[in-house]
Amino acid sequence: MSNKSRKLFEEACAVIPGGVNSPVRAFKAVGGNPVFIEKAEGSKIYDVDGKEYIDYVLSWGPLILGHSHPNVQAALQKALEKGTSYGASTALETELARMILNACPSMDKVRMVNSGTEAVMSAIRAARAYTKRDKIIKFEGCYHGHADGLLAKAGSGAATLGIPTSPGVPESYAKNTLTLSFNDLEALNSLVEEESESIACVITEPAAGNMGCVLPETGFLEGLRALTEKHGIVLIFDEVMTGFRVAYGGAQEAYGIKPDMTCLGKIIGGGLPVGAYGGKEDIMSMIAPEGPVYQAGTLSGNPLAMTAGIETLKVLSEEGTYENLNNKTDMLTEGLRDAAKRANVKSKLYSLGSMFCSYFTDKEIVDFKSAQQSDTETFARYFQGMLERGIYIAPSQFEAGFLSIQHTAKDIEKTISSSYDVLKTL
Ligand SMILES: *Cc1c(COP(=O)(O)O)cnc(C)c1O
Repeated sequence: MSNKSRKLFEEACAVIPGGVNSPVRAFKAVGGNPVFIEKAEGSKIYDVDGKEYIDYVLSWGPLILGHSHPNVQAALQKALEKGTSYGASTALETELARMILNACPSMDKVRMVNSGTEAVMSAIRAARAYTKRDKIIKFEGCYHGHADGLLAKAGSGAATLGIPTSPGVPESYAKNTLTLSFNDLEALNSLVEEESESIACVITEPAAGNMGCVLPETGFLEGLRALTEKHGIVLIFDEVMTGFRVAYGGAQEAYGIKPDMTCLGKIIGGGLPVGAYGGKEDIMSMIAPEGPVYQAGTLSGNPLAMTAGIETLKVLSEEGTYENLNNKTDMLTEGLRDAAKRANVKSKLYSLGSMFCSYFTDKEIVDFKSAQQSDTETFARYFQGMLERGIYIAPSQFEAGFLSIQHTAKDIEKTISSSYDVLKTL
């Protein structure tokens, strides 16, 4: 921990709660103080003391092109000369909307917002208006942003009435959120059979990246699709992380499942603040001003954010982009698995496309409960060892890591050898 970062963190703590503008950035789960960043380029970030790190956080997912990609930078510079926001329509919004709809055929229309949180909040409002029902089902360990009703998580049992996870969330909001275990189709089945008349939507991350990387078991998403269809329940895929990450068309393309609505964010903003929600025509036509469901935003469709998103998707749509990126990720994950084996450390590594997570356990991870049984103390020591060696991974066991198209074979080799060195010391 450098002196400069420590000093900046102390200063930040005096004026910002916990010194950070998003809790995940603090090093609470791993100890120590967060590193303060000066600049970033390609696969690397540099702290205020000039120390270089290979970055596997990538701003928590958006930067699939790596930092400061020349196409994005150049387009942004040009856009900047024309002003930063108009609060009036631009062709850029239609262009990005078209690109998104082309990528995800499940969507007929899409509305831009400013964050993933906003996208999910708005999609749920639309689903409730469309079905004229109030309750929603979510899965434990899935993160859908910090809107009140979505901070609820399950107590014990197959399904419980939501209890507020955070103070400040009224019981009356939380009680409309029913929570189940990810991958537990049987529990979902019985809850839906029991409550079908009151459930507006089921929302899920199709592959869960906010409890590490928990993949849907064979048949889970198919079962979810069939069940919701049967009962007129809106199925929402929260693809804020997986959209344009695990495939150009997101997890819905990778798994071949068509949700009724989709939430996006992260990658579609190319590193600028963006979210989007979209879906079937008859649901999306309910959104104001076409319909009565109100949703608005001063900076929604911001020209700089649209520009960064368009440039990012242009690069991603080039032939071979995902194949190369996924091959690189396989190189990394195979190397990391092998390093753990050689160092004789129990671990399970999961990946989908270019997102991955390695847990310190020898049991399979299928849901939040199993994820929580991994050894987080060992993870904390692993994190510190990697940080020291110039490898920046998320400061929590329950986060996915990401690769960008700018990560090199040399980066991957260094990461694997550093990992082996650290694992040996655990
Ligand atoms: C990041 C994330 C969100 C929240 O997006 P913000 O832009 O941080 O509000 C919602 N859902 C999923 C699946 C995410 O990964």
